[in-house]
Amino acid sequence: MTFIPHVIDGEEVESLDGARFESVDPWTRAPWAEVALGDARDAERAVTAARRAFDTGPWPRMGYAERGKILHRLADLIEARGGELALADTTDMGKPISDATAMDVPRSAHNLRFFADHARMSVGDLLPMDTGHHAYTRFEPAGVVVAIAPWNFPLMLETWKVAPALAWGNCVVLKPAEDTPASAHILGRLANEAGLPPGVLNVVQGYGPESAGQALTEDARVDRITFTGESGTGRAVSRAAAANLTPVSLELGGKGANLVFDDADLERAVRWSIQAVFSNAGQVCLAGSRLFVQRGIFDAFLDAFTAAADAMVAGDPKDPSTKLGPLSSEAHFNKVREYVEGAVGEGATIVTGGVGDGWVIRPTILTGASATARVRCEEIFGPVVVVDAFDSEDEAVAAANNTPYGLNAMLFTENLSRAHRVAAALRAGTVWTNCFFIRDLRAPFGGVGDSGVGREGGNFSREFFTEPKAVVMEITPAPRA
Ligand code: NAD
Repeated sequence: MTFIPHVIDGEEVESLDGARFESVDPWTRAPWAEVALGDARDAERAVTAARRAFDTGPWPRMGYAERGKILHRLADLIEARGGELALADTTDMGKPISDATAMDVPRSAHNLRFFADHARMSVGDLLPMDTGHHAYTRFEPAGVVVAIAPWNFPLMLETWKVAPALAWGNCVVLKPAEDTPASAHILGRLANEAGLPPGVLNVVQGYGPESAGQALTEDARVDRITFTGESGTGRAVSRAAAANLTPVSLELGGKGANLVFDDADLERAVRWSIQAVFSNAGQVCLAGSRLFVQRGIFDAFLDAFTAAADAMVAGDPKDPSTKLGPLSSEAHFNKVREYVEGAVGEGATIVTGGVGDGWVIRPTILTGASATARVRCEEIFGPVVVVDAFDSEDEAVAAANNTPYGLNAMLFTENLSRAHRVAAALRAGTVWTNCFFIRDLRAPFGGVGDSGVGREGGNFSREFFTEPKAVVMEITPAPRA
């Protein structure tokens, strides 16, 4: 069986106690790899390596251009080894290989290229003062960054954190989710090959609570923690970080609203709405899992939406024609299945969907769910959508905002004023109008309420991963002649 080690201080290593765990392929439902099971001592070792690399190594002291060259080389290697990386994520968590190849891998390379260039071209403020002084800003690396990632877009979200941290001169300890160790390990190996000095990017495998993940959040030698995962875990991470006053960035769960108005382009609204809730088998923080459709087009929309959902090819994620793979693990499959099976008792009608082969849940569309139904209120993280009709714009906005989450929302309309009005009224970190998932990495990304704390992207990442320093200078007046 394949063995997946840690990558610490430039070396591929076992856990100190030699412990291992198995990674299960959710399509075959059989273990496919043995993984080093990191604990607090392995976490401690990785932080020590990152600390040394930061305090005495060349990485934070290099110019942006030189660092950028290495990060671009890493992006080249990600592209060259795209097939291996895509297969790693597909085998670990069941995402369709076509998505991993067309989306996750290119976006991961782009994350590195974008942040390498962004850091190099970034400009700070220069503030001429009336008092005969001037002030300017230096963006100095924060130090040791811990990056803790979820399993739904493994490589893509890991590079989303690692790239800006490295580009700004930090040294990183990455902990991938226990369900998806493989692509992070390849990333660590490729980082060595690209020429990152030892200790600059360390990858510790293992679990979160009372294990490697928790130990990383409690280590006082860490300067920043960037976390993506469930809102409940975010609270635990935040508590641990508070003990050391370590700044945290939290990208958490969601329950995205999707508003389709009468005047929407129906074909476009259906196409994006399908993508929004069924891509990656709905295991997307940004999923448009609450769909509100204006009454005038409700029936026409629901017919077309249901037909498109039924047409999604479900099955073996390694088959390039598959659009919907299994859920990532047995535990997660059981959780989503319970939501679907409980929905009818909460007043819902299952328009289409239900349990498929193995750990597959077919695209599931529910109508009529009660106001307090769990399927309406809780993040399911599966291919399940609750659909409701609405009459007025105000009613739709109020319904959309009726959630503790606020990661993102979508709206479909051809009315320009309404598009801007509703986008402004929605309580969310990102609003997509007539589209979904399109990102400009300069834009802020993050959530409101239970969906997170802070923003990353462009200058927002710069602010988080650096210690901006103000330098104030007095300009001596010219001596009198
Ligand atoms: P999770 O919270 O269970 O785990 C995330 C990571 O945290 C894993 O690496 C895990 O090992 C680690 N972890 C768990 N407990 C920990 C602890 N006490 N201390 C330190 N680390 C700990 O989340 P998941 O199931 O892997 O991912 C799904 C969740 O992630 C969903 O809620 C989803 O919405 C969210 N998510 C959010 C975004 C976003 O950008 N906002 C993106 C993707 C996923």
